[in-house]
Amino acid sequence: MPTKTSNAGAANASPRAIRQPSPTSTPNDWVAEADALDQRLSEIDSLEERLLEITRAVPGRITFSTSLGIEDQAVLHGIARSGANIDVFTLDTGRHFPETLDTLEASENVYGLKIRVMFPEAHEVEELVARDGIYGFRMAIENRKACCDVRKVRPLKRALNGATGWVTGLRREQSSGRAHVPFAAWDATDGLVKLNPLADWSLERLESFVADNAIPINPLHERGFPSIGCQPCTRAIRPGEDIRAGRWWWENEDGKECGLHNRPRQKDAAA
Ligand code: SF4
Repeated sequence: MPTKTSNAGAANASPRAIRQPSPTSTPNDWVAEADALDQRLSEIDSLEERLLEITRAVPGRITFSTSLGIEDQAVLHGIARSGANIDVFTLDTGRHFPETLDTLEASENVYGLKIRVMFPEAHEVEELVARDGIYGFRMAIENRKACCDVRKVRPLKRALNGATGWVTGLRREQSSGRAHVPFAAWDATDGLVKLNPLADWSLERLESFVADNAIPINPLHERGFPSIGCQPCTRAIRPGEDIRAGRWWWENEDGKECGLHNRPRQKDAAA
C-alpha cells in the first residue's frame, strides 16, 4: 500500500498541458511552460499525485530512467501504484554489480511490469577497450568520461529519442551539484521536459517511504553504498563521507558526474 501523504496542494493545482511543439515555438516558450509545471509540482506533496500531474501536463511519451538505486525504486513504486502512463528503462553498462541486476528482476516481479534494458553498442565497447584497456577508465578522467559516454550517455540518448518527458529520481540533497534541481525544466540538449518528482525529498523521507511500502531495494544500500553505479567505479563510503564519495573516488570531488544529468538547462541556453 502506498504511503498516505498530505495532498492539500494538489487540489489547488489546475492541470494544464504543456503546448505541443510547433514551428513557431521558441526556446523561451518551452522554458515558460516547463517552469509553470515546476511551480504546480511544488504545490503537490504526494509522489503519486506529482506523477499523475506530469502525465496530465506533458503530451507524448514520458519515460523514466532508473538506475535501480533507492530513489529510483521509490519513483518506480509511485509509477506502478498510481498507474501513471510512464515508460521505464534502465541502462545496462555491462559493469553492474550482480545485486543491481537482482534488484531489476525483483522489481519486475513485485510490480508486474517490464523494465526496458538499454545496452551500449557492442562495436563501440570493443573499440573503447581496444584503445584504453579493460580498466582504462582509471587511467585518466578523459578515459573515464569516454567509457561513461559509450556505456551510458549514448544508450541514454537512444532511449530518450522521441520522448517528450524524462523522469528521474534526482534529489537536491544528493550533492552540491544537485542542490538546485527543479521539479520540471526544459532540457534543450535532449529536446524534452526533464522531471524530478523527488527533488525536495530528504533522505529521511525517502527511507521512510521505502520502509512503509516494503519497496524492494538494492541490498548494497545496507552495506555502505548510498549511491550505486558500475562495480569497478563504486565503493562503500565511510561514516561522515558525502553520499557520492564512493563514485569514482580516485577523481577530484568537483564535477563527479557521468554525463547523464549535467547538461545545460534551456533556461541557461536561452539566456
Ligand atoms: S561508471 Fe565506470 S565502468 Fe561505468 S560507464 Fe562510467 S567509467 Fe565505465
